Amino acid sequence: MAEIKMRVCNVCQKEKKDSKFKHENKKTCISCEFRWKTSFLRLLVHDRRLTAQERIASRLGYMGSAFIMLSPYILNYGYIGAITYILGGILLTPQVWIAKQWNLVIININLILGYIIYLL
Ligand SMILES: [Zn+2]
Repeated sequence: MAEIKMRVCNVCQKEKKDSKFKHENKKTCISCEFRWKTSFLRLLVHDRRLTAQERIASRLGYMGSAFIMLSPYILNYGYIGAITYILGGILLTPQVWIAKQWNLVIININLILGYIIYLL
């Protein structure tokens, strides 16, 4: 008669059959291993999720990009082109500020200042 070997899982501390372990040398049972894997994946997904602050900054960034994209085409129609450049720069700044992309922050501030000078 074949003897059923029992092993103790190092996570759930339960005594389980050999078949409940993936390999001979595994100390964690399959169900515990699976839970570890999913919780780790969940952690990664959670980490990648944007905070409320980042989400708002991202939306403002898209609006700012739209303004800046529009600006070159309307720059010849009075002051409106310069105003949309300045608005675009202001809306884009929080996104690059939160992302600590200081070179882009400097470019945005330069853009805002440049078009304020242009308006005056
Ligand atoms: Zn277990």
